[in-house]
Amino acid sequence: MDFAFDARTEELRGKLLAFMDEYVYPAEAVAEEQRARLASPWDTPAVVGELKAEARRQGLWNLFLPDSEYGAGLTNLQYAPLAEITGRSPHLAPTATNCAAPDTGNMEVLTQFGDEQQKKQWLQPLLAGEIRSAFAMTEPEVASSDATNITTRIEREGDEYVITGRKWYISGAMNPDCRIFIVMGKTDPDGADIRRQQSMVLVPRDTPGVEIRRAMQVYGYEDHSHGGHAEVVFDRARVPVSNLIGEEGGGFAIAQARLGPGRIHHCMRLIGMAERAIELMCRRAVSRTAFGKPLAQQGVVQNWIADARVAVEQLRLLVLKTAWMMDTVGNRGAHTEIQAIKIATPRTVVDILDKAVQLHGAGGVSQDFPLAELWTSARTLKLADGPDEVHQRSLARREIKQYL
Ligand SMILES: Cc1cc2nc3c(=O)[nH]c(=O)nc-3n(C[C@H](O)[C@H](O)[C@H](O)COP(=O)(O)OP(=O)(O)OC[C@H]3O[C@@H](n4cnc5c(N)ncnc54)[C@H](O)[C@@H]3O)c2cc1C
Repeated sequence: MDFAFDARTEELRGKLLAFMDEYVYPAEAVAEEQRARLASPWDTPAVVGELKAEARRQGLWNLFLPDSEYGAGLTNLQYAPLAEITGRSPHLAPTATNCAAPDTGNMEVLTQFGDEQQKKQWLQPLLAGEIRSAFAMTEPEVASSDATNITTRIEREGDEYVITGRKWYISGAMNPDCRIFIVMGKTDPDGADIRRQQSMVLVPRDTPGVEIRRAMQVYGYEDHSHGGHAEVVFDRARVPVSNLIGEEGGGFAIAQARLGPGRIHHCMRLIGMAERAIELMCRRAVSRTAFGKPLAQQGVVQNWIADARVAVEQLRLLVLKTAWMMDTVGNRGAHTEIQAIKIATPRTVVDILDKAVQLHGAGGVSQDFPLAELWTSARTLKLADGPDEVHQRSLARREIKQYL
């Protein structure tokens, strides 16, 4: 078994690491300063546009997209160590390289299922980083981890679909650059097959009847750097029938296809967050003295750092194995591994970040270090893209089935 990365991956890693040092880390404080002076906190700080231009110039662009006609054409195994690097600065680097969720998943959907007109109108500007997008599935009124519960209606009237429903936690939707929603709703709520009742439609932000009602908070924060997580109401919003993605009844299957790569991308970036936490822990531990000796000489601190290193090495191997399986046997064949990393990675990284916060004392929960925000991001990933318990349930059922 060869654990080395191939030549193309190494080359891109080198470029990306240099890009992070030269442009991204210095831009973190600049972005915060600029945001504080923006007319609306949901607008994009100017430095983000500068980072995007530089990343694109260097060919560090659309690395996530395996389709070489539209993206970098990397395998999951090639992309994994690159996503990890961007995860070290998750509020800037993924956007800078046009590899940020939820655009990535939406671009994948349009690449795979969009028709030529949809690609021209929405995929091209997304690939160029000119607009942002959102994915609207979750609803406050129903347990949305079970997508068959979705109640939003997509009703055909002549040459139009009329969309009625209420969604929340729609990431990115507070950002005015977010111009298009992929909305999941029911075209056939009484259909016999509960997995064929749903469809997906493209709904432009400026469609009459679309209301961005409020920004939902995350542990008391408004998540400005991710474009927020909006409550969005669709009140008889009308779009042409040509805005349907794929076929009527195909929404559930598209959602499944979208989530495999989305989940592993989150896990790759989470490993980068954990690496950043370990680095910050070590720097802090050697630079602070309490009760007569540096924190680095406290056994408990050494245990936290050692345990974090062990856990990250384990996680990375599992994520890379999952990436390799997705490349070789497909997303369906890698189902167990995708679920395993989706369960293991946020859980472990939350724990590492918690220790890093503790080691930083009050600074750990402050805005002067990235740890509090990283912790919050990692914690929400125990819910977003499917709660842990849903993945545990389905993984366990597949495991047990072998013995029935
Ligand atoms: C920061 C953030 C960003 C998000 N971004 C988006 C987005 O962009 N677009 C979007 O559509 N959604 C988004 N979501 C929503 C997210 O995908 C949902 O919260 C998630 O799917 C769970 O749905 P729910 O909140 O309705 O919880 P519910 O379905 O009500 O589940 C609640 C809890 O019940 C338990 N549970 C559920 N099913 C089972 C089971 N089978 N076995 C055991 N326990 C179970 C779990 O503990 C689960 O957490 C985001 C959420 C967050 C927090």
